[in-house]
Amino acid sequence: MPAPASLTSRPRVLSGMRPTGKLHLGNYMGALANWVKLQDSGQYECYFFIADLHALTTDYADTSQIAPHAMEVALDFLAGGLDPEKCTIFVQSQVKQHFELPLYLGMITPLGWLERVPSYKEQQENITNKDLTNFGFLGYPVLMASDILLYQADFVPVGQDQQAHVEITREIARRFNQFYTLNGTEVLPDTDGRKMSKSYGNTIGLTDPEPVVRQKLKTMVTDPARIRRTDPGDPDKCPVGDLHKVFSTPETLGQVYEGCRTAGIGCIQCKGWAADALVQILEPIQARRASLTEARVVEILKDGNRRAATRAEVTMEQVRAAMKLTTETSR
Ligand code: SF4
Repeated sequence: MPAPASLTSRPRVLSGMRPTGKLHLGNYMGALANWVKLQDSGQYECYFFIADLHALTTDYADTSQIAPHAMEVALDFLAGGLDPEKCTIFVQSQVKQHFELPLYLGMITPLGWLERVPSYKEQQENITNKDLTNFGFLGYPVLMASDILLYQADFVPVGQDQQAHVEITREIARRFNQFYTLNGTEVLPDTDGRKMSKSYGNTIGLTDPEPVVRQKLKTMVTDPARIRRTDPGDPDKCPVGDLHKVFSTPETLGQVYEGCRTAGIGCIQCKGWAADALVQILEPIQARRASLTEARVVEILKDGNRRAATRAEVTMEQVRAAMKLTTETSR
């Protein structure tokens, strides 16, 4: 089958987020803002997805929130600046190739590889309110490998916690090639600027109104060494200082460092500046969100699902042929 005209030869970028509800500033600065940059650069063919199948690996017992949360995430993707004219936004479970490839890759993935992924044991120990001894949770890295390989992604912006999964994707791709020789699945994972820890402002939602943002800032902890107003502090040891580093202008940041270290400013004033910067970032995001309707989002996702499936099917045809699973290649 000839490649559809919509597929380009630009390097492909793929990344996704689990549908956990409305996004917060940590999601925005850690991932979404970077995705928007990649999309706007025009250098990449970008695919961004809502990873509802990933959510199922842990939330299988109560799936009631997955779809509503997916809608919230889609709204925030668009409000945050993803543009369906410039990238493909889709829902993982709506692209059926995401069910087929994990099955094939699961056949060739040794159990030991999956059991050794650090997050497997860690999460089983840490998440005590869910039974994670299920096949789906163990196989999560296969699901993720399939996401990457389906789009033959050249760059996969992921957080540090996902690095091991990207590594295993390479291993699985290599093993697939050993058995079946599929050209063009070399994965070149990359990391993005998802360095912002959630602790930056994970309590500040992208949809929080200004008074709420200001109130949350007021109660945010500061450098513990700054007990009294006259004690000097260090913005490098303060979550508010971290916010300034990300959101404030260089001039304001300079004033924060100077004022904090000499006790020339108080934390209340400093937090006010941080809130000013956050509000400036959030205002256009909130305005865009207000202009979106759920019906429009559904339309955008349907179109994205279709485009993603077209790209994924190109890979699946190659995979089926390589595995000799099509009648066309049997003779
Ligand atoms: S002045 Fe600002 S950076 Fe320094 S401790 Fe207070 S809030 Fe943190």
